[in-house]
Amino acid sequence: MQIHEFQKMMCQLYFKRDSERGINGTFNWLVDEAEELGEELRKGANREATEKEFADVIAWLASLANIMGIDLEKAAISKYNFKCPKCQNSPCKCTF
Ligand SMILES: [Zn+2]
Repeated sequence: MQIHEFQKMMCQLYFKRDSERGINGTFNWLVDEAEELGEELRKGANREATEKEFADVIAWLASLANIMGIDLEKAAISKYNFKCPKCQNSPCKCTF
C-alpha cells in the first residue's frame, strides 16, 4: 500500500466524521496521538503498543490532510524527493 492509498482508505472510513469535527478538532486528535506515541517511546517496553501508536499518528495525519484537501504523498515526495530539502544531499550533511 502506498501513502495515497492509505490516505484514500482513511477518507473512505472517516471523512464524514472528520469533516464534521473540522480542522482544529482533528489537529488536536493528531497532537494527542503524537503525545501517546511519545509516552510509549519513553516506556520502551511494549513494541506492539508502540506500533499501534505509530498507526494512530499516521491515521490522524491522513484524516487532517483529507479535510484540508492535501495529498500527503505528493506533499511528502515534493519536499523529500530522495534528498535533504536543506542541503540537497543524500544522506543529509546538515550540521545541527
Ligand atoms: Zn541536510
